[in-house]
Amino acid sequence: MFAERMDRVRAAMDTSNLDVVLLSVGPDMPWLIGYEAMPLERLTMLVVPRDKPATLVIPSFEVPRVTEHDDVFGVRGWTETEDPVAIVTNLVKGAGSAAIGDHTWSRFLIDLQQRMASTVSWHSAQLVTGALRAQKEPGEIDRLQAAASGVDRVAAALQGGEIPLVGRTEADVSAELGRRILAEGHAAVNFAIVAAGENAASPHHHPGDRVIKPNEVVLCDFGGTTAEPEGQPGYCSDITRCVYTGEPPGEFVESYAALQQAQSLAVAAAVVGASAESIDKVARDRLAASNLDQWFLHRLGHGIGVEAHEEPYLVEGNSNPLVAGNAFSIEPGFYIADKWGARIEDIVVSTEHGPRPLNQASHDLAIVD
Ligand code: ZN
Ligand code: ZN
Ligand code: ZN
Repeated sequence: MFAERMDRVRAAMDTSNLDVVLLSVGPDMPWLIGYEAMPLERLTMLVVPRDKPATLVIPSFEVPRVTEHDDVFGVRGWTETEDPVAIVTNLVKGAGSAAIGDHTWSRFLIDLQQRMASTVSWHSAQLVTGALRAQKEPGEIDRLQAAASGVDRVAAALQGGEIPLVGRTEADVSAELGRRILAEGHAAVNFAIVAAGENAASPHHHPGDRVIKPNEVVLCDFGGTTAEPEGQPGYCSDITRCVYTGEPPGEFVESYAALQQAQSLAVAAAVVGASAESIDKVARDRLAASNLDQWFLHRLGHGIGVEAHEEPYLVEGNSNPLVAGNAFSIEPGFYIADKWGARIEDIVVSTEHGPRPLNQASHDLAIVD
């Protein structure tokens, strides 16, 4: 698996005429070799020259953490008194163009830029890894499905009234969602937004000490990263469901029905070959028909994989067509300041047989207490 990914990276480097790819902290390296760099001041860097073997430059005492794959990369441990930037610079000698991982600490990039030839042209590693990571292998889709099924069960508990809401703070409910996410096969909770009433009008609301009351909407958007065997990267889940603590007013019911339709129309439109922006427009047009488009404040969705937000982005201006194996969220919403808001989010995979939603939790507005 990793050897095959490395081959695809090298082919993409050829196409983009890149001599070396440098990866450090962030999701590219775990995707490519199964090892995640520690986000510390000691440099860990995977050096991938176009036509020489790849080398993982890593603090010596962290080498035992690495699951080695001799056919994919070698390991060069560095001791406390060695200079890791000099080791990397030496490995990339003669390179005319370099791509570096987006999450790499800028202090290392600055060091490298100062010590490598000033003629080297610098690029983002996204140029290579973005499209490759966006096109999931069957095994990756299985992991995303497992992640989605895990949060589906948490959503079902929420919708079934198993998670009490009224009288509790948003933060308390958020913590419970987090515990349930971990219990459902995740190693980490990435976020658990709980937004009650008027707070639901803030798409990235930070759950606080606001106590949930009867007769209001509660928007919950949560996800994590799956637990995987040592040396395998985890995959992300991301789901949004809304519940109502009582009988919802007619106006909300109507708006929610439009949102539900916008979401399912967009899922149906997510076929191979459709442009990313055209899917966003399907949802936006349906909301416009109900005068809600002015309250749809964000793009329709984002890709998902080893990273919670990655390519492809479903947004106006992205005319790239979907390809089979793309995995992304479809999450339209409406957010009316000081009043209320709602969002419905599923993860969907585009396949040759049509869009495949990974989340199966009900889209209906459940009434709970
Ligand atoms: Zn978001
Ligand atoms: Zn979400
Ligand atoms: Zn999302």
